[in-house]
Amino acid sequence: MKLYAENILLKDGWATDQTLTIEQGVITAIEAGMIVGAEVAKGAVIPGMVNCHSHAFQRAFAGFSEQGSEGQDSFWTWRKIMYQFLAQLTEVDAKNIAKQLYIEMLKMGYTRVAEFHYLHHDIDGSTYGANTSEGSLSNGKSASLATMAQAIFDAAKESGIGLTLLPVLYQHSGFGEQAPSDGQKRFINSTEQFNQLVSDCFILSEQYSNTNVGIAPHSLRAVDKTSLTSAVAHVRSLDNQAPIHIHISEQQKEVDDCLAHYGKRPVQWLLDNAELDKHWCLIHATHIDEAERKGIIAKQAIAGICPTTEANLGDGIFPTTEFMAENGTIAIGSDSHISVNPIEELRWLEYAQRLTKQQRAILATSEQVSVGQNLWQQAARGGAQSTNSNTGYLAIGKQADLLVLDSDKTKLFANDNQHLLDSVIFASQQNPIADVMVNGQWQIKAQQHVDQVQASDNFATLLARLSAS
Ligand SMILES: [Zn+2]
Repeated sequence: MKLYAENILLKDGWATDQTLTIEQGVITAIEAGMIVGAEVAKGAVIPGMVNCHSHAFQRAFAGFSEQGSEGQDSFWTWRKIMYQFLAQLTEVDAKNIAKQLYIEMLKMGYTRVAEFHYLHHDIDGSTYGANTSEGSLSNGKSASLATMAQAIFDAAKESGIGLTLLPVLYQHSGFGEQAPSDGQKRFINSTEQFNQLVSDCFILSEQYSNTNVGIAPHSLRAVDKTSLTSAVAHVRSLDNQAPIHIHISEQQKEVDDCLAHYGKRPVQWLLDNAELDKHWCLIHATHIDEAERKGIIAKQAIAGICPTTEANLGDGIFPTTEFMAENGTIAIGSDSHISVNPIEELRWLEYAQRLTKQQRAILATSEQVSVGQNLWQQAARGGAQSTNSNTGYLAIGKQADLLVLDSDKTKLFANDNQHLLDSVIFASQQNPIADVMVNGQWQIKAQQHVDQVQASDNFATLLARLSAS
């Protein structure tokens, strides 16, 4: 197909009056002028955003954990509520939640998601498929180690979002190989079983388009060095560029526990004990010192920042100003899905810096003075790196993951190319994205998805059931 754009953000900046040729999901030509027969984009075209961090099932309890208790509510009480919800979810629920969520993501401009997937086992903690006499699942499929992973692949396929599936290795409830709690039984795999799951997911991925697989060792508190080393070696044997994501340094307590156990801060321990490279993404590296910050940058690893979730959980603020000034690579994620909106993530990424430093327009550079454009482009590229996907910017040879802004909305704010993304990030009160293309296919047209009614009905029914029990 051919798509004409009056204004389009390409790799090197804005261009006007261009026609893209898109074949088999990839941009194969970009030519000046309107080519006859091209579809006309009804607003400016920008690259799709990559969501570097999602736990899909957590979408089901957004809003259920905001009840105060005299300032005593913390990340750890939030986690307790999460475990209560989790104890009820079937594989069909997991798919229905993820499908609703992924449609919401698409509408807000996320064209690919890295799913940090740790809900592996059945409600009682038993491994799906372990007992062959169990027969098939309620959805008619036969159970296997990858049953829950398949639910995520199916949700991505039915919604149309690109997927990077990251099966999570989770073994301990705390530093020093503490035994997992009952609430964690659905997450736990031996290293051998985990490596088998990863292999199964690589095979599964071949049956779905626009997907790939990496791994996510959950955190240093949940995985010990021997398991981490084995899991990394295994995934590297399957794909030496597979993404590896890990939660690190999210809470001060985690830093204190790590210091007590290893005598090192979490990121420092990781730098000293794992072969970090540009395919590693450090999620919530919130509490880092200068040496750790420079260490992440020296390894070209990515900082996966989730500003709204980190604010919601009271985690703290990542040193984004210093990290970006030293050419660190960032990506953004919606994590707990308290917000599913890259515009809000980027707005808060900048606002957190303004509030702490009492300055303005911080996350811009001398080459790119527009904060909005700088953040959108850097987060999209960092997100692409974090998923090892052929996305992140629009150029010949890149996957056609793109957004068309709604000119009826953008015309009400500063909308020349120099200011457009500043208006989008800082001044939008409504979703300014009209159409969303993933891998060359329109998934959202005029803010609508073909499956949205059925998906939201299924989700609302499920939510009513969960909250009633
Ligand atoms: Zn997370």
